[in-house]
Amino acid sequence: MRLLIAMMKHETNTFSPVPTPLQRFGHGPGPLYGEAAVEAYRGTGSGLGAYLDLAEREGAEIVMPIAAGAPPSRPVDDAAFEHMADAICGAVAKGGYDGIMLDLHGAMVTESLEDGEGELLRRIRAIDPKTPIAVSLDMHANLYDSIIDNATVVTGYRTYPHIDTYDTAKRAGEILLKAMRGEIRPVMAWGNVPMLPHVMRQGSDDHPNRELQARCAAMTAPGTKAGALAASLFTGFPHADISNAGLSAVVVTNGDRDLAERLRDELLDQAWNDREAFVYQIEPLQQSLARAKASPPPAPGEGPIVLLDHYDNCASGGTMDTTLVLGAILREGLDNVAAFAIYDPEAVQQAIAAGIGAQITLSIGGKTKMPAIPGDSPPLTVTGTVKTISNGRFRNKGPMGRGVQMDMGPSVVIDTGKVEIAVISRHVEPSDLNCLLALGIDPLQKRYVMLKSRVHWRAGLGALAKAVVDCAGIGVCTSDYSQLTFRNVRRPIYPLDLPNR
Ligand SMILES: [Zn+2]
Repeated sequence: MRLLIAMMKHETNTFSPVPTPLQRFGHGPGPLYGEAAVEAYRGTGSGLGAYLDLAEREGAEIVMPIAAGAPPSRPVDDAAFEHMADAICGAVAKGGYDGIMLDLHGAMVTESLEDGEGELLRRIRAIDPKTPIAVSLDMHANLYDSIIDNATVVTGYRTYPHIDTYDTAKRAGEILLKAMRGEIRPVMAWGNVPMLPHVMRQGSDDHPNRELQARCAAMTAPGTKAGALAASLFTGFPHADISNAGLSAVVVTNGDRDLAERLRDELLDQAWNDREAFVYQIEPLQQSLARAKASPPPAPGEGPIVLLDHYDNCASGGTMDTTLVLGAILREGLDNVAAFAIYDPEAVQQAIAAGIGAQITLSIGGKTKMPAIPGDSPPLTVTGTVKTISNGRFRNKGPMGRGVQMDMGPSVVIDTGKVEIAVISRHVEPSDLNCLLALGIDPLQKRYVMLKSRVHWRAGLGALAKAVVDCAGIGVCTSDYSQLTFRNVRRPIYPLDLPNR
């Protein structure tokens, strides 16, 4: 057996100013290829890790042309997309595969294309019309016909935070292997409804997504009458001004198209009926911080209060350098705080030059202009001691992306006396405990931890937190969708076109 396995992942925030060149696609400078890619992902809790385990179990020969994944940012450079698609299509053209297993995102927009993954799959099918293709997608995929039309089986995550990337790819791979052996004949039905669920309301531990994902699992439970091979509900990625942004579903059955369509409609109806529960209510920042300040300090053994700077999550395309929330924390005099993180490679270099223990005054953040949103995020001047200097590398402890190598780039911690501020040189969302520990910050010793995140922080830090206070700041993954100008998304769409808006 010979398998082609590859990864091309990007969640595109079309409102983001953060560039997306090829170099961004890797946990270091650029993608990995061939044996280096296999080595990096073998034994990890990633989608590629699952495909590699399946290949090993089957005794298959593996061809891995490229493993490329970038943190969310503006539309992917055309040249970067062409390079990644060429790497995969070039390998496909050599032929001789029994199956193709792809770990994709589903919300990749390029400078020229609304649907990067659909175009990749269309090109693969044009070269090789026959070899079965498995595709594993993120729950934030914005689905298009081309993705479904050119794949054999498509599956999506059931968890947000995404702690089932491995299981999702395994599900796709297992179905593919059965199809390759002729044991099943997968058919797929997909569809969408005109709604943009708010990202802050998409967590799979909360209503309504909890019940939707449970329904997907029930549809595929062995021995049930429903009998789908796979069922996926995509909450979608709303910070993308493209026609198909929003919620969708795909159901895979063994040769039964009617059943696939019926189950798909059931999922979409349930989501549509729950649409109001996907709307997020914003609390003004002053009110949030006053609430945080008034809450009692954690008792011994209790974790910190998380101050969630959710407008500037780099894993949703945020610049990670806005300072509105951090500035307010400093002004309000909150004590015993850790802040993760401000992206500012220049400030990092200044702190490194000053050295450990040096007292410095630095201008941090506010360096990236955000023309797509109203308001301004000026740099913040801070004075403190250089507490930590690090190369910024760590491996995820998990449960999200367990074992995957991460790279914050050169990183420092500036201690103002009240606030320890992490300043980093590559975008990494605080979804893993080790991003803090790697910089010498123990969140359990803090009264407050400010995180630039929306939902993924819960994966690694949720269980440690005593409470969470959402802090409305500024950034291109703004939770106030009225700040975004949508020109291309299909209209009307809920909740942008609510009768009262
Ligand atoms: Zn996602």
